Amino acid sequence: MIKKLLRSLARLAPGHAHGHGKARAHDPQVYKASRVEIDRALVSSAANRTVEGLQKAGYRAFIVGGAVRDLMLGMRPKDFDVATDATPEQVQRIFRRARIIGRRFKIVHVMFGSETIEVSTFRALSADNQETDAHGRVLNDNTFGEQHEDATRRDFTINALYYDPLSDSVLDYHHGVEDLKARLIRMIGDPAQRYREDPVRMLRVVRFAAKLGFRIDGATKAPIAQLAKLITNVPDARLFDEMVKLLQSGQALKGLQGLREHGLHHGCLPLVDAVLEPQGSTEEKASALRFVELALASTDARVRAGKPLSVGFLFATMLWHLVRHTWHAQVAKGEKPIVALQRAIDDVVDHQLSDLAIQKRIVADMREIWLLQPRFEKRVGASPFRLLDHLRYRAGYDFLLLRIEAEQADAELGQWWTDFAAAEHEERLALIKSVAKQPGQAATKKRRRRRGPRKDGGQEGEGHGGDGSGSDFEPQ
Ligand code: ATP
Ligand code: MG
Repeated sequence: MIKKLLRSLARLAPGHAHGHGKARAHDPQVYKASRVEIDRALVSSAANRTVEGLQKAGYRAFIVGGAVRDLMLGMRPKDFDVATDATPEQVQRIFRRARIIGRRFKIVHVMFGSETIEVSTFRALSADNQETDAHGRVLNDNTFGEQHEDATRRDFTINALYYDPLSDSVLDYHHGVEDLKARLIRMIGDPAQRYREDPVRMLRVVRFAAKLGFRIDGATKAPIAQLAKLITNVPDARLFDEMVKLLQSGQALKGLQGLREHGLHHGCLPLVDAVLEPQGSTEEKASALRFVELALASTDARVRAGKPLSVGFLFATMLWHLVRHTWHAQVAKGEKPIVALQRAIDDVVDHQLSDLAIQKRIVADMREIWLLQPRFEKRVGASPFRLLDHLRYRAGYDFLLLRIEAEQADAELGQWWTDFAAAEHEERLALIKSVAKQPGQAATKKRRRRRGPRKDGGQEGEGHGGDGSGSDFEPQ
């Protein structure tokens, strides 16, 4: 079936030798887009208008990269990149809303409404004056070149297709169409050299294999085991971005397992070990894995449904069992639960996140989600009302539901909060009353009252619970 399709595709490219080896890299195979099953309806109008604007001004312009790949797979691309022979300055002059960004690697953002199209000028193949680090990693990257050079510089054959929506054609310099049909990820050029130039490509192989469910070509796979350690030379911010992309690929668990399989998780990505090889007793390990699997499955479902994702929430779920493990250990030593939780969080943030250039804002989100957890146990007095008003309540609640699914908290607790959030004021008071009769909460009621005046002059206890700190929550 595939062979037949390929034969008929080859017939559409007259004068071009079909098969590997013979064709020179700068003679692309040309396919009719409708014959390679590109559905025009999936092409954003902003991308169409960008290509049209450039072509009308006399330049060559194509949709490139992941968007073409996704279109050919019948998927709606999440964003569109355009490649052209116009320089960034020339591109900027054509469009009303266009901005040149980047210094070492200039590209142009062309904006139509809320959509931004990234336009880059064809890059040349490695120039003699190219700067590399001691391991061969390319450091500068701004020489413009021919389209065939631009194609050869791309990473995988399936990522090096050029689609012109106006003439309805796809240009293929590296047998990307064949590989796409064969569901194969194949590096352009010599894989080992390409990994040395940019070790992130190793992570990209794994990400695309997971996301697309494709096989990795043998020669593309082979050098990874030996070169995996080069990942440590990649700047932290880039690693973090790549990690986020992998987690948001819609196949997060597969992606993480792929990293581990290829030995790409050592040293630089301790997170992956922490996620897939949890510490603790057999029971704890099973529960930790279950939690991560549930969290990643729900993340994947959100991605596939096109819903937004919070990176803080995602990382909070992945590192939760580490926090929990350390937390329980501290409590077992006699530490107060809240203090123990705070310590556990500090410990995990210091040891697990320091290697990733994770933004402070994201870490703050994670902390909050974790610290909210014991507060869900306090269902007395004004505490539930305050928690409901908390800016991160929703994230904390979603997190609680995951804990419940992983059998780390009682289902009754989740149901109570679901009811409480949906209820009117009177019903809420009744819900709080109903809990006061439960044995667990009786302990809260009996909580020691502070003797004597408070140093800060604050009002003593609103209701029975007070707020977060000093809670007598017992972690399970
Ligand atoms: P997605 O956006 O779905 O994650 P993508 O293939 O579009 O996948 P991008 O990171 O958006 O990935 O890059 C766009 C294109 O730029 C790629 O398809 C590829 O052609 C090229 N590219 C990106 N990163 C590299 C790299 N490290 N080495 C070589 N080419 C790359
Ligand atoms: Mg992309």
